[in-house]
Amino acid sequence: MSDLIQYFREKQLKQSSEQIMKGRCPYCSMQCSMELIEEHIIQRKRFKVKPNKQDPTSEGRLCIKGLQAHQHAINGARVKYPLYKIDGEWVRISWDLALEMIAEQFSSLQQEYGKDSIGVYGGGSLTNEEAYLLGKFARVGLQTKYIDYNGRFCMSAAASASNATFGIDRGMTNQLTEIADAKCIILAGTNIAECQPTIMPYFRKAKKNGAFIIAIDPRETATTKFADLHIKVKPGTDANLAMGMLKVLVDEKYCDETFISERTRDFEQVLEQVDQFSVSTIAKQCGITSEEILEAARQYGQAETGMIFTARGVEQHANGYQTVRHFLNLVLATGKIGKHACGYGAITGQGNGQGGREHGQKADQLPGYRSIENELDRKYIAAIWGVDESELPRKGVSAYELIETIDRQEIKALFLMGSNPVVSSPNAIFVEKALEKLDFLVVVDMFISETARMADLILPTTSYLEDEGTMTNLEGRVVYRHAERKAPKEVKHDWQIICELAKSLGKEQYFTYEKVEDIFNELRQASKGGTADYFGITYDRVKNGGVFWPCPDPSHQGTLRLFEKSFHTTDGRAQFHTGHELIRSEKATKKYPLILTTGRLMEHYLTGVQTRRSQELIERSNEPFVEIHPQTALEYNIENDTLVRIESKRGSVIVKSKVTESIREDTLFAPFHWGDFQCINRVTNPALDPVCRMPEFKVSSVKISPVQPIKEKVAQVTVVI
Ligand code: SF4
Repeated sequence: MSDLIQYFREKQLKQSSEQIMKGRCPYCSMQCSMELIEEHIIQRKRFKVKPNKQDPTSEGRLCIKGLQAHQHAINGARVKYPLYKIDGEWVRISWDLALEMIAEQFSSLQQEYGKDSIGVYGGGSLTNEEAYLLGKFARVGLQTKYIDYNGRFCMSAAASASNATFGIDRGMTNQLTEIADAKCIILAGTNIAECQPTIMPYFRKAKKNGAFIIAIDPRETATTKFADLHIKVKPGTDANLAMGMLKVLVDEKYCDETFISERTRDFEQVLEQVDQFSVSTIAKQCGITSEEILEAARQYGQAETGMIFTARGVEQHANGYQTVRHFLNLVLATGKIGKHACGYGAITGQGNGQGGREHGQKADQLPGYRSIENELDRKYIAAIWGVDESELPRKGVSAYELIETIDRQEIKALFLMGSNPVVSSPNAIFVEKALEKLDFLVVVDMFISETARMADLILPTTSYLEDEGTMTNLEGRVVYRHAERKAPKEVKHDWQIICELAKSLGKEQYFTYEKVEDIFNELRQASKGGTADYFGITYDRVKNGGVFWPCPDPSHQGTLRLFEKSFHTTDGRAQFHTGHELIRSEKATKKYPLILTTGRLMEHYLTGVQTRRSQELIERSNEPFVEIHPQTALEYNIENDTLVRIESKRGSVIVKSKVTESIREDTLFAPFHWGDFQCINRVTNPALDPVCRMPEFKVSSVKISPVQPIKEKVAQVTVVI
């Protein structure tokens, strides 16, 4: 018997093989690295994932999403060749034909309606090289002004606020390791415990070292439970809260006068403003107590070191820009910046939310955070690209406005790469109707997403295991992503698709790259001397742990901590925000008495196109829900775990109820990872921030009602008859 077992073991060993592939999780901005081990045992494949212990950011950790990330890459539903829609049916076509068709359609539309009749829509998960190339393709390949990307919905408030206050937008001003020594930490609108779980040990260390942690969130989450003080603020009033805290810092003399006078501008105007309101008024506006504001301000004010982090909870508002600026006022007033364990961080949600916003996917931007409206910047980039400056288009419009431009039929065709706006945009029903008006929609994706389903043509692209490139993580560290898995035969990388399409459009000479590193080297040149200067960062250097930008030359070690000596402004001083007008577009009304806020779940990423294709993740979380307080549930006759309709003036959605005390009585919460009739963005608010054009996802006035079970309805009908 044992001989037989031995025989089979040996046979199995002979027929087994394994491939070890290095990779980097494609989901959040921690960009944790890993090894994927693909074992072939006789006819079967088995996958194991091992975190990379040498990763300086994740320190050898992976969360549940990272552990399962490969499942979408190996999913059988991936698009494996170009698909063209004929009479509603997908037909397999060759790459040559696909590219020829796109070139023909785009060229004839541009001839008839002008260059700007084509739009380009990118994504925050593209590599730096692909984000850069997509921006160049729009400006040089198509010469259209209409390009923007889904990162607009993620980082625009924090980015614009940092630029205005500090003169530079790098997500974190310090390395993550400094968090351990911060004595007070404010987490404003961020649920890191679920959204970026591998970051949590940095905060746990801080807590162990005696830090006081303050979480600001209308709902209880794993993060707020970890905090020492949870301020359950009313959605849309975060700016008020920050102003209230500043008043306490001023009144109780916690401000750093030397820092203010030597390194900032316009504090006098801030002083005038804080005189105009009382803490109790602010507390009332925020739906909290004065004591909470006092406690938070005192803890932050008296702490020797401190850090403030913001995320979408306070940023995705029609006043997101000014809200972040008010939080940055706290940083400046106390001088808690530019030194060890003192600083600010915007916790980026998207995998390459940082790099994706630096090199030209934004409507008003050229690579290196240069401005498309600045004459010197235009000339510099035109020279790098080998075109005349006058040929470069001017600035376009933000992501949601791009959809509005499509709705007005000014944009006739759209080239969309790495995004799913039908699910991710606010007012999703309108967005779907707008896209239906397009003459031609091309979607580059791995799957037939909700948006790809509407396309005329789908081009298949590679996954994170197959696509080499660099990413910039939430610290501002540029890291290298290996690509050791072979892509399916007819699937191409995003950068290859862009280059081949440019060739079909007769622009081949501007897109002659043999490998992805060639694109990075051009990006380095294009960013040289810009705000986001990558010139000193080379592939050799990023393959060894990563480099923090700005890094102006190859001998520069990279900037680990920003603002030690001066800010990135013309006079080196940081700018206090002096506006205190409180924009809030939507309020609870008689018809729509509740405020809906949205967010993420630990198991899913963005619109779920990838994570909903992972068996393990979908087993843990397979449908959306709405959190509702027991008192509110009682008032609206809603039982736990039953179907409810959420309705705003824009549309409605039916999801399951989750009755819980963790949410405020006047607020509902729902996750945004599902599409079609489960898409919560069918009801969300598209009001845009006047500065950064961020939509107000986090404040939508809605009503809620129970949906009667079908059986009950049938019984009622029977009675009537
Ligand atoms: Fe790391 Fe974020 Fe991926 Fe989780 S989702 S493994 S925290 S990169």
